[in-house]
Amino acid sequence: MARMERCPACRARLADAEICTRCGTDFSTSRRAERQAQGLAHIAVRQLCLGQTMQAAATADAATHLASPLLALAVMETIRRRGAVHSTDVEDPRQEF
Ligand SMILES: [Zn+2]
Repeated sequence: MARMERCPACRARLADAEICTRCGTDFSTSRRAERQAQGLAHIAVRQLCLGQTMQAAATADAATHLASPLLALAVMETIRRRGAVHSTDVEDPRQEF
């Protein structure tokens, strides 16, 4: 899902508006989802840089369920090009005990 640039109801340009100035449709929920997805995408990049490939894949996947930001798609494509995700990437939570 690409970022919503125009109101799907009346086609007015939205920019960053949460409410369409022409028809009054409220997009605050979808805008919030876009922001959350972008935040998850940044977390996925950080995880990928730290070598936490499994976590990065899961985080990027969660982002795409919200809004599919390009950054999350790039993380997923990077992981795909690197090949299979290794289970050794996952930190074993039992190691903390
Ligand atoms: Zn509208």
